[in-house]
Amino acid sequence: MKAQEMIIEIIKRLKKEYPEPKTVLNYKTPFELLVATILSAQTTDTHVNKVTESLFKKYKSMKDFADAKLETLQKDVSSVNFYRNKAKNIQAAARMLIERFNSKIPKTMDELTALPGVARKTANIIIFNVYGINEGIAVDTHVKRVAYRLGLTENEDPAKIEADLMTITQQKDWGNLSHILIFHGRKICRAKKPKHEECVLYDICPSRDI
Ligand code: SF4
Repeated sequence: MKAQEMIIEIIKRLKKEYPEPKTVLNYKTPFELLVATILSAQTTDTHVNKVTESLFKKYKSMKDFADAKLETLQKDVSSVNFYRNKAKNIQAAARMLIERFNSKIPKTMDELTALPGVARKTANIIIFNVYGINEGIAVDTHVKRVAYRLGLTENEDPAKIEADLMTITQQKDWGNLSHILIFHGRKICRAKKPKHEECVLYDICPSRDI
């Protein structure tokens, strides 16, 4: 099967398995999604949701994050990896959004990646989940692993993986593709002991014997 035919089949099957592909991070506002996404690097979404449950009760607005004492904010997120830097970036992003973006979350890749702590992956998540725009494909550890096992990429660098996936898919599928691969990676195609026998892609997967 050619890569393009393969990806069409993969998307069809995984969409059926995961009909509501969206981030599992909890948030009520676009800014809360930005905070949760920054916190989620190298940390599980489940843990981030535990942290943000109390965090978003204490810091109710962008301004609350901007005006907070940095040491206090760091303490409030101290159970996540790299919390010092993440808290610093969240505060700096809040201040920049207030000063330069009229307290609104921008829609474009260039504007979003200008914010502290926001790289392409985070920007893709925000643009798709907040605005429904298919700007690119967020590549996290699950997307990286599952795409490689399915033979959709041979690269290890997220930017190159994203480019590979964008080449073989239609733009309308970009945002969803990231989510369905993440769901599949979490549930079935796990890093350790992937559940090949339960996988809906078993018959077309080149890695079914690993
Ligand atoms: S068959 Fe196995 S390696 Fe291939 S996608 Fe499914 S779980 Fe992953």
